[in-house]
Amino acid sequence: MELIIGAVILLVGILIGRFLPGLGRQRRSVAQVQPVCGCGHASSFHDEKGRCHADNQVARWDGGSWVGTESVPCSCQKYTGPEPLPAFYAPEITE
Ligand SMILES: [Zn+2]
Ligand SMILES: [Zn+2]
Repeated sequence: MELIIGAVILLVGILIGRFLPGLGRQRRSVAQVQPVCGCGHASSFHDEKGRCHADNQVARWDGGSWVGTESVPCSCQKYTGPEPLPAFYAPEITE
């Protein structure tokens, strides 16, 4: 019986997601909210010592003319953003 109720809830969820795309978009934007450091990178880019391992895209200039961008390692040494909440990483459905 519980299985049937679960299946109905799942079906309703799929239907709502299909017919109300705005609702789905809203939920996705909520999921994108994550702790971000002062350097602009998420906490997942920082190791246990707080160092950032992400790359920054910086403009490259050669003789006064812009020649493109290059990736340089982020100089951030310490994560300064909010502590990530365990709830952010908890799987939504475990059964
Ligand atoms: Zn960084
Ligand atoms: Zn950082």
